[in-house]
Amino acid sequence: QAKEAGRGCYCAFASQMDAEIRRRSTIEAEMRDGLTQGLFYPRYQPIIDLRTGHVTGFELLARWRREDAEIGPDQFIPIAEECGLLNTLMLDLLDRACSETRDWTVPASIAINISPGQLRDDWLSHKILSVLARTGFPPQRLTVEITENALIVDAEKAHHAIESLKNQGVQLALDDFGTGYASIQHLRMLPFDKIKIDRSFVDSLNESTEKLRIVRAILGLAGTLELPVVAEGIETLETAEMLRSLGCAQGQGYLFGRPMDKEEVERWLADGVMPPAAEALIR
Ligand code: C2E
Ligand code: MG
Ligand code: MG
Ligand code: MG
Repeated sequence: QAKEAGRGCYCAFASQMDAEIRRRSTIEAEMRDGLTQGLFYPRYQPIIDLRTGHVTGFELLARWRREDAEIGPDQFIPIAEECGLLNTLMLDLLDRACSETRDWTVPASIAINISPGQLRDDWLSHKILSVLARTGFPPQRLTVEITENALIVDAEKAHHAIESLKNQGVQLALDDFGTGYASIQHLRMLPFDKIKIDRSFVDSLNESTEKLRIVRAILGLAGTLELPVVAEGIETLETAEMLRSLGCAQGQGYLFGRPMDKEEVERWLADGVMPPAAEALIR
């Protein structure tokens, strides 16, 4: 009888796998369509200098318009990566972003996200630099954020790709610092120019002495390495003030601005040099 039950279980599992495979290939097909139809697009979230209140740059965050809903990257980036579509998608977004942001009144930098797996493409740096050249976007204004969610497997390859970008003036940031494993190991592996503290440490910083200690330790480490720090996920003025007083150079979060499309950013820039929350911060 146990054997019977076991077999039933196996069948259920197999048909579940089947359904999963079908679901994936449907999404993959939709993704390829989406790419050709331009249904993937960039949103821009401002990054603020916590001392001056000025915008220093924008992070490009990918979105997918699908059946009238806007889908976030946490849902489609892993699938795009599995299908081998992630670099195509990223280059497409970068192309759009370089053309869309070139004429903005602030000469802000743009940060793009790259997951460690993307660095396996030998031609990645070459492809990024050709997009910059073609759109006339200065490499000095591009930052590449490497997410810390996975260990950088092929360190030599990653190093090569990053070196050729850095030789052209592209900046390198370590994203989501503190959440990956081997954080400090990562810092030694690649020539980073800045560190981004993950939102999970920033969120309700004012209510947790443990988080405060961790943030202070990260800022201490970054200070020793002479690397500026960007805090992500700032939602309250109180948190922004705390971070600034702890010596954190830059911040990003709903307090200053949500990820916006091109038109929203342009309206936002037309209203003044800094968001109201940043004005409150430096007052
Ligand atoms: P990330 O690079 O750490 O980006 C920050 C995430 O935090 C974004 O989520 C942003 O919308 C969100 N966020 C910013 N400020 C706040 C805040 O004050 N409160 C809260 N609750 N959230 C805030 P999003 O856009 O959903 O992106 C999630 C992740 O997906 C990103 O995390 C990044 O790792 C990845 N991602 C986004 N676009 C791309 C891409 O083009 N390529 C790759 N490889 N990854 C991407
Ligand atoms: Mg990022
Ligand atoms: Mg991040
Ligand atoms: Mg994060």
